[in-house]
Amino acid sequence: WFKRLTEGLSRSSRQMTEQVVTVFAKKPLDQAMLDELEEMLIEADLGPKAAARITEAFGKARFGREASEQEIKESLAEAIGDELAQRQGEFDPLSGARPYVVLFVGVNGSGKTTTLGKIATDLTRRGAKVLVVAGDTFRAAAVEQLKVWAERAGASFMSRATGADAAGLAFDAVQMARDEAYDVVLIDTAGRLQNKTALMDELLKIVRVLKKFDPDAPHETLLVLDATVGRNALAQENVFGNTAGVTGIVMTKLDGTARGGVLVPVAQASDAPIKLIGVGEGVDDLQPFDARAFSRSLVG
Ligand code: GDP
Repeated sequence: WFKRLTEGLSRSSRQMTEQVVTVFAKKPLDQAMLDELEEMLIEADLGPKAAARITEAFGKARFGREASEQEIKESLAEAIGDELAQRQGEFDPLSGARPYVVLFVGVNGSGKTTTLGKIATDLTRRGAKVLVVAGDTFRAAAVEQLKVWAERAGASFMSRATGADAAGLAFDAVQMARDEAYDVVLIDTAGRLQNKTALMDELLKIVRVLKKFDPDAPHETLLVLDATVGRNALAQENVFGNTAGVTGIVMTKLDGTARGGVLVPVAQASDAPIKLIGVGEGVDDLQPFDARAFSRSLVG
């Protein structure tokens, strides 16, 4: 997967690296070069804040000195890695409460269903008893797709008729999970942004219901974001981060994007750490987020 990620990642950031190398190799680093670096980082979608900090770190390490191409790449990867390492988090549903309840939020098409399916598969492989809950009761096709993932994973599956109350479903699901000693409950939720207020009300209602069983539930709320949609679309999805109590971010489709750098500003803008990355449509294409490895692949 890593090779694929590296290959798929960021034509733009690869270009950025090449530019940086062209500008910096074999010349003593000066302020004009640093300004140019900052521009390039912004162009590669890293966002102004990260660009400034990375430039500063890079400047500190290298100012007034010449460097080889390799050294420049290493410095750059290190500076980006430092930036991202602060925003890296761990997802381990088998380490906490039983049943461990995970809520998946995000707009339709972001990869929620796929991510949930991948996680269900990983957990059942590790011997966990998993319940998958189709909390988006409005999208019949999504319910079907989720069912396929659950069956393939060997997880139990719970759904309701189209249009049924999602919070009621969540209630019954957690009740069953308690009675039948499930380890993990994975709850998909609706992601139609057309009516944000209704959507957020529905989410909050699900959260309230879950807290009746356990004040700490949901133990994890994962916001699933599509890395290919660009910074503006991602900014809009902050609505989830603000309302739903997001505890972790999953960045999907990093295999297909020329703009992997977008992860940097997203990581900074969010209070929640990045926990997982999606690097393909297959069952094994979900990985823990590793800031150092990611920044190396970004720099190339
Ligand atoms: P949902 O509407 O949020 O539930 O999104 P889906 O899980 O149905 O995903 C939407 C599309 O994105 C599907 O075609 C998935 O196969 C695809 N997808 C999801 N995650 C990834 C990923 O990490 N990489 C790629 N290339 N495609 C993905």
